[in-house]
Amino acid sequence: MCGIVGYIGKGNVYDILIKGLHRLEYRGYDSAGIALVDKDGKLKVYKTKGKVSNLEDYCQDKNTEAGAGIAHTRWATHGEPSDKNAHPHYSEDGNLALVHNGTIENYKILKDALEQHGCKFQSETDTEVLVQLIEYIKVKNNCSLADAVREAMNQVVGAYAIAVVEKDKPDTIIAARKSSPLVIGIGDDETFLASDATPFVEYTKDVVYLKDEEIAIIKQGEPLKVLTLDNRESKIDVTTLELSISQLEKGGYPHFMLKEIFEQPDTLRDCIRGRIIDGGGKINISGLNDNKEKFCEAKRIVIVACGTSWHAALLGKYLIQDMCRIPVEVEYASEFRYSNPVLDDKDVVIAISQSGETADTLAAAKIAREMGAFVFGISNSVGSSIPRETDSGTYIHVGPEIGVASTKAFTGQVMVLTLLALGIAQMRNTMDEAKIKEIGREVLHIPEYVQEVLKLNDTIERLSLIYTYARNFLYLGRGYSYPVALEGALKLKEISYIHAEGYPAAEMKHGPIALIDAEMPSVIIAPQDHLYEKIVSNVQQVKARGGNIIAIVTKGDTVIRNIADHVLEVPELPECLTPIITSIPLQLLSYYIAINKGKDVDMPRNLAKSVTVE
Ligand code: GLU
Repeated sequence: MCGIVGYIGKGNVYDILIKGLHRLEYRGYDSAGIALVDKDGKLKVYKTKGKVSNLEDYCQDKNTEAGAGIAHTRWATHGEPSDKNAHPHYSEDGNLALVHNGTIENYKILKDALEQHGCKFQSETDTEVLVQLIEYIKVKNNCSLADAVREAMNQVVGAYAIAVVEKDKPDTIIAARKSSPLVIGIGDDETFLASDATPFVEYTKDVVYLKDEEIAIIKQGEPLKVLTLDNRESKIDVTTLELSISQLEKGGYPHFMLKEIFEQPDTLRDCIRGRIIDGGGKINISGLNDNKEKFCEAKRIVIVACGTSWHAALLGKYLIQDMCRIPVEVEYASEFRYSNPVLDDKDVVIAISQSGETADTLAAAKIAREMGAFVFGISNSVGSSIPRETDSGTYIHVGPEIGVASTKAFTGQVMVLTLLALGIAQMRNTMDEAKIKEIGREVLHIPEYVQEVLKLNDTIERLSLIYTYARNFLYLGRGYSYPVALEGALKLKEISYIHAEGYPAAEMKHGPIALIDAEMPSVIIAPQDHLYEKIVSNVQQVKARGGNIIAIVTKGDTVIRNIADHVLEVPELPECLTPIITSIPLQLLSYYIAINKGKDVDMPRNLAKSVTVE
């Protein structure tokens, strides 16, 4: 996680870096800091615990004039959030300042060795080791900063995106990466670098995605130079950024999360566009169609993901098994990668990550490829690592998601997995063409159904007031509604800090039913599907124990309406499409409960959006 940004050029360095940090704050907000090299060569480092706004307050009376600078917003992995652990970290002699996203696994060994050479440390971070190591090498070898960074990279084990500035060099920034993202924006007489392109979208659309183990030498007035670890010059691929500034603003909503919930009719329209042709009868996903053989011959599909994407993955399992009759396994990427997985070239592995940078998912995808599996990535971020490191894949096209709690990316992932399942079913002839067409036609209307569900907003806002101070929640669902229950519980936990448990409704009687009383509300997702009768009895079981029930039901439902305390109606849809619409009332419920409790929904405590550390 952590966001890093750097700038060199004709503009106001401080202003550009601070604005960039605000855009990257979704990546972490434990502390923020900035290092500026002024025209006289002086290196100034200002940093403080807390959000970027704290840094701005801190810098108010400081001299922020500079020719080049780097900045950081932190999500702590090594050392508590504090002023001294905030980045940038500087070398003991004060010559270098460095910002880092990632983790240095062998930092302890390196630190011990540096201490033996007399090096003194000020922080508990792994990052400080890196900057001290670079300075140590630079002095010892009497070499350039770029050479010292390259040498340090040979000694370091772990993940990093770094930017370094040097005293007396107001015209140079050195950057490097391995496993953590770094993108360079090439403007007119100015250069930007950042963890993603959002900090400089209004200045340039020309970007270079730095590859693993590459070092960038950014020098004012000179073309960008990129070196490999063995000191060869890399070819520079400039790509055009497809991102607009309006996508990064709140557009009149009080929070990004609410904006993103309400964007879903449009984001789903973008996600579906061009992917269903022939009036619903043909699925057109190029990454799928171009690899027909792989999907037709697959003996098994394994889906790897983390967090909300894992819930989408679980829905992917239900969808693919149902429609394509292929066995599907769903794995937490963090477990999969260390589980000694058994894979071969008859396996297809699908790796899902909104940011395309999730460290565990990326590592899982790499392992799967090494073992011969065909790896298909699903991501939202064009040019990110997962699309680049996989054999093929597709984007969800829902636009930048800024709110830390995922909403529109989840429905986009589920949509893409639905289309993928339909497409594979078509290729493998496991589904009737007429059935595919019927579902395909309904998919085209999903944005309208979502629009209708969003009309529940005011009802849900009122309902949230009744349950704001509940200490625990149970979310129950069966079949396609079970992953929705997991996702609903996660949303509530993430932003309101209320304990919530998602459970398969029938499993409840093997344990969680003991928790049910008038104090613990149950949210039950119970649309009209082939398990409807079964979930009705689960609803009755909760009621019989005196529990309060909020039920998500299909429009016109009378049975559950008579048992539950509150019902929220959603339109009737084919079973496989219900998760997209039943998940939306749960997003709104968690949003309003968190708002009622006065929580910062866009930046919940301890969380960050793009999980680029293990
Ligand atoms: N390891 C660094 C720290 O703890 C960076 C963390 C990160 O990128 O999330 O400060």
